Amino acid sequence: MNQHTNPLAETFPPLGNHQAAVEANRCLFCYDAPCTHACPTHIDIPRFIRKISTGNLIGSARAILEANLLGATCARVCPVQELCEGACVLGADHNPIAIGRLQRYAMDHIYSRGITPVRIAATTGKSVAVIGAGPAGLSCAGELARRGHSVTVFEKRELGGGLSTYGIISLREPIEASLAEVKMIERLGVKMETGIELGSSLKLDELQDRFDAVFLGLGLGATPSMRIPGEELILDGLAYIEESKLNAGAMKVGRSVAVIGAGNTAIDCATIARRLGAEQVTMIYRRTAQEMTAYPHEYEFIKKEGVEFRFLTQPVRVLSQGARVTGLSCIRMELDSADAFGRRTPRPANGPEFTIAADQVVKAIGQEKPSLAQRLGLAVDKGFIRVDASFETSIPGVFAGGDCVRASPQWAVPHQATAPGRAPSCGLLTKKDTASTVMAVQDGKLAAAVIDERIGNSDPEPQPRGAVVKEEGQ
Ligand SMILES: Cc1cc2nc3c(=O)[nH]c(=O)nc-3n(C[C@H](O)[C@H](O)[C@H](O)COP(=O)(O)OP(=O)(O)OC[C@H]3O[C@@H](n4cnc5c(N)ncnc54)[C@H](O)[C@@H]3O)c2cc1C
Ligand code: SF4
Repeated sequence: MNQHTNPLAETFPPLGNHQAAVEANRCLFCYDAPCTHACPTHIDIPRFIRKISTGNLIGSARAILEANLLGATCARVCPVQELCEGACVLGADHNPIAIGRLQRYAMDHIYSRGITPVRIAATTGKSVAVIGAGPAGLSCAGELARRGHSVTVFEKRELGGGLSTYGIISLREPIEASLAEVKMIERLGVKMETGIELGSSLKLDELQDRFDAVFLGLGLGATPSMRIPGEELILDGLAYIEESKLNAGAMKVGRSVAVIGAGNTAIDCATIARRLGAEQVTMIYRRTAQEMTAYPHEYEFIKKEGVEFRFLTQPVRVLSQGARVTGLSCIRMELDSADAFGRRTPRPANGPEFTIAADQVVKAIGQEKPSLAQRLGLAVDKGFIRVDASFETSIPGVFAGGDCVRASPQWAVPHQATAPGRAPSCGLLTKKDTASTVMAVQDGKLAAAVIDERIGNSDPEPQPRGAVVKEEGQ
């Protein structure tokens, strides 16, 4: 299916060779490049772009992979407006280099040819268990494998990739792109065992006995309960997105869809509903546009999709006839004083309940904290796994990274007015602290470096680190 026949096809088509060459040649190859500083994994952006400009695509992909093994996913899903492209010096003229699309161009080149331009060190004789095949787990596993360690990833789902596979809307990342990256990590020698869940079929103490270290990349949990009558008739936003990725053709979308929430997940659900045929999509949020956690560019996007907003509105009951949803009964809210993040808290305003008609209701109100953490006996901070500066948990030899350790800051300053023609400025804490794919990748990478230092090498005659034992391509 192409873009015209598949309403959820990737928003940006791949760059053609000529387009990529022209774009790469616009780069000023800045010294001490601000784009590289703005990338949480510190990809040497001018270096990989220069290699594209000289036609060395494998060298370009290698430069990306040196800093970020999940370069193809990050090229697609990173909020580049807030990161590398937001920092590009050409942004002052409103025309930053399309860094994300160039990165995707180089990465797609190697994946379409089955090339793995990664150096792997000699076997160390040490082994590490990684729990969770999301961006944090895959990054950690791949980085350890290239240092010569034997790595096994245990993943409870059928497919690897975590939210890149199941949770990120196909408009940004089709499932094939995520699975290609999982395969690449396996080509580095990582063993993938899917359908295995730590805490049920697998115990932490078994892993501690069998492996020299353990890394937990568990992500977060399910969508929390709203505790309102009739909630069992509400669809789960994460499951909604998952179905659109795995089974879009058979997916049942209502004619009039209400989406509860106003974060990026809610926007993705509203987009899916609209693109798959809903005539009316309404997003319901108990605060105002000023407090939304979605990126400003996503808010602008969804308005153009024809989605309506009902702000200062709180659903209190699902209305139904038998098992058929007919709408939501809601109350009006008003904003109280600001909380610790500076975000004003909502409270019920005086006034009667009113109805929003809908034949399908989806909730996208965030994810629960990783509940397994406490069951494993790990110390937690506000429900997130507590780690020290070296990503070690309260249990020695057990490390963690990604969403399960990172509280997503809900708020910093309000969305800001945007001058015409300028990229929307973002008032959210997006760059260094927000839970995102690239932050999970960086956590996995940094944790792998610490684990490598810690477990060392049991091979009596190891080859020097960095020896090229596997490298395909130029
Ligand atoms: C709807 C949605 C859209 C998003 N869009 C973007 C975006 O466009 N850009 C962006 O940068 N970020 C986005 N994010 C955030 C991003 O997806 C996450 O920050 C990132 O996936 C975190 O990676 P992770 O590896 O920590 O967790 P996850 O991706 O959640 O992976 C965790 C993995 O661990 C597995 N697991 C959990 N418990 C166990 C267990 N007990 N045993 C075995 N396996 C287990 C899970 O099945 C999963 O595969 C989005 C998030 C959501 C929910
Ligand atoms: S800041 Fe822009 S112009 Fe400078 S190196 Fe980075 S991408 Fe190229």
